[in-house]
Amino acid sequence: MSRRRKIYEGKAKILYEGPEAGTLVQHFKDDATAFNGKRHEVIDGKGVLNNRISEFIFTRLNALGVPTHFVRRLNMREQLIREVEIIPLEVVVRNVAAGSICKRLGLEPGTRLPRSIIEFYYKDDALNDPLISEEHITAFGWATPQELDDIMSLAVRVNDFLSGLFAGVGIQLVDFKIECGRHYEGDMMRIILADEISPDNCRLWDVKTNAKLDKDVFREELGGLLDAYREVAQRLGILTENDNALATGPRLVQ
Ligand code: UDP
Repeated sequence: MSRRRKIYEGKAKILYEGPEAGTLVQHFKDDATAFNGKRHEVIDGKGVLNNRISEFIFTRLNALGVPTHFVRRLNMREQLIREVEIIPLEVVVRNVAAGSICKRLGLEPGTRLPRSIIEFYYKDDALNDPLISEEHITAFGWATPQELDDIMSLAVRVNDFLSGLFAGVGIQLVDFKIECGRHYEGDMMRIILADEISPDNCRLWDVKTNAKLDKDVFREELGGLLDAYREVAQRLGILTENDNALATGPRLVQ
């Protein structure tokens, strides 16, 4: 039996060649990193939870007509995805001030922003993913103005969907990061959502207690990262209280 070919290995995921042309297998690792890889830990079970949470979100986005790379989950740690040409941008949408924007602009964490704000960071570990403007993106040809429009409208649709989804289960969506790619079908190309959406790349605060249910638990060494991710999965109805079995849907919090 031949080993399948590894296409790319990142900090939290591995991409393998897929079973047919134009597909890849996205494998979720248990590795947690922060501060551009300076802190690293293996947290047993994180990959399984992120695979499930991301599947749940991407399936619903697909159903709403938001185009994504997600095809189907293959097993506990892997999903089948469409191959895309990744656009080298981290697209961050913020609803409430937290993290880097607080340091940069002197905002009090938790302040609701006057409106949702979209930011772009250039994906380059060696440069520490610098904040960039639309001018940089189009001038350097990382995306065309039309592609940038498509990316921003995807970001807004994802924000609307996620804000409502999480509000319904007692969680405030503070901010999140997405990545997009070019998907080619014959001579057609369109921008679709790629990567993952999980507590690794969102800030999720409990509405009542403001408890953090995301990767800040790891960044700030608060302990119990897996419990926080499991709580998100349980509220979304992905895991029952007894863990692994599949349940029916989100549990509404009054
Ligand atoms: N984020 C991410 N990957 C990154 C940087 C940020 O997923 O490489 C997410 C992060 O989890 C948060 C949002 O993007 O939900 C905004 O992050 P921020 O710019 O505040 O950076 P941080 O404070 O995490 O360094």
